[in-house]
Amino acid sequence: MTFSEAVTAPMTYLLLPDKRLFFGYLLTSFFMALAVLLLAGYGPRRVFRKIFNKKVWWHKSSQVDYQLFVFNIFLRMVFLGIASVSSVAVAMMILRFLNSYFLYHGLGLSYSGGLLFFTLLSFVALDFSRFFQHYLMHKIPFLWRFHKVHHSAQVLTPMTLYRTHPVESLISVVRRTLVLGSISAIFIFLTKSPIGGYEIIGVNIFDFVFNILGSNLRHSHIWLSFGPLNYLFISPAQHQIHHSRAKKHFDKNFGIALSLWDQIFGSFHNVGKKQFLIFGLQNEKHQSLAQALRAPFR
Ligand SMILES: [Zn+2]
Ligand SMILES: [Zn+2]
Repeated sequence: MTFSEAVTAPMTYLLLPDKRLFFGYLLTSFFMALAVLLLAGYGPRRVFRKIFNKKVWWHKSSQVDYQLFVFNIFLRMVFLGIASVSSVAVAMMILRFLNSYFLYHGLGLSYSGGLLFFTLLSFVALDFSRFFQHYLMHKIPFLWRFHKVHHSAQVLTPMTLYRTHPVESLISVVRRTLVLGSISAIFIFLTKSPIGGYEIIGVNIFDFVFNILGSNLRHSHIWLSFGPLNYLFISPAQHQIHHSRAKKHFDKNFGIALSLWDQIFGSFHNVGKKQFLIFGLQNEKHQSLAQALRAPFR
């Protein structure tokens, strides 16, 4: 890794449509925030003061978000190239196993049927795997030690998404590789078609829609509920409930895109009118990068 690569890597997130920080998603989130606040009766000047509140964006908690974001990217660039197994390798291994033990001639899907099947399968499987990892990070005390770094955020900005302990980031990378590898193998085995899906600017169409519809407001102080659609998709307000310090909100809304998983696992919490929420943990703040990194081991 060259020095210039290390410096520019965090900036490239603004240009990568598979990242939530892609400038297109930030822009739509901004316009949605604007609409929400104007409809709530805020004047134009107060709207901008609310969205770009210096006390939030330059809060000590936000500064740790920025530091963890850069730190995790550096770690990934240095170690992951060497240590990671690609999802293609996982897929090949599973496919070899399936083909040697089972004989199957394929579902006989058309080309577009295959594309639709893989688009749906990868979206649903990855979404469930993210939900389930999140669920376990809360329920298993050893994993909570790492995940609590995300929850010690006292204010929320789109960068809080990247406020994760490196161990949690590593778990996420391994989970994604295994899930993508497995579903690719299962898809090829079942359909006998090559992998492919419906995409917009190189991103699964469902992920694109999820991100363009204000995904960055999940980590923000803008209250946006999807109303009755909360039963289908986790709205930004529902993720803010997940960050709330109130006891009745503990262990609620683990979902990322679909709220179905929370309904099945009994952790669904719907939202109505705007609520006043306090974010963060009761006893821990992690107000520097070093404190955040050391937190799980104390
Ligand atoms: Zn959580
Ligand atoms: Zn969060």
